[in-house]
Amino acid sequence: MQHKFISILLDLLFPWDVTCPFCQRSLVGTERIICCHCEAELLQSVLTPPEQLSAHAPLLCCVSAFAYDGIARLLVRELKYHNNSTVAWLLALYMLAALLKVFPSPAWDIIVPVPMHPAKEAARGYNQAQLLAAEISACLSLPLRTDLLRRTKDIASQTSRTAQQRKLAMKDVFIAEPMQPGLRILLVDDVLTTGATASACADALLASGAASVTLLTACQA
Ligand SMILES: [Zn+2]
Repeated sequence: MQHKFISILLDLLFPWDVTCPFCQRSLVGTERIICCHCEAELLQSVLTPPEQLSAHAPLLCCVSAFAYDGIARLLVRELKYHNNSTVAWLLALYMLAALLKVFPSPAWDIIVPVPMHPAKEAARGYNQAQLLAAEISACLSLPLRTDLLRRTKDIASQTSRTAQQRKLAMKDVFIAEPMQPGLRILLVDDVLTTGATASACADALLASGAASVTLLTACQA
């Protein structure tokens, strides 16, 4: 009877912790958001930290928590299409763990999410990169700046284009506002695919006075 009461109380306190969204198994004990079986599967997608700093110039470094497959991919889709703040929190924890493996001492001044085109963000109602960036900002106690970078065009998927075509298509897509010079920026996005988007963001931020731009994403395709 007492156990049932505690269980009801927990359900009231944590209404999202009822079933695992991926396998529908009831969550038990300390399980939160996803069950231990799905979490074990998720951990198989954890990426090893990058060996070289700048794989995508002019970005200083690109760090991603997971390969874009399995449960990690489902979590990003849940974040992208269902505005799920608890999923943002879960992904952000793994993103931070990946980041701190590469940079044990946080060395950034501000956090900037990769912006969506205003019309697309208005249609969706939120920007999933900003949901992740807000969690990272709270954990690292660093300011979240959504006012520094704007997206002027919406570009379709570029995976079938050459690197040169991608760079050309991204020209002037992002505009950075004038900023205090020398800022070290942590740029946050949900998925790194070709790197063209993040590189274009970095180009704009560096041209406006930033000292460096490091990319942190939940997944890498
Ligand atoms: Zn599960």
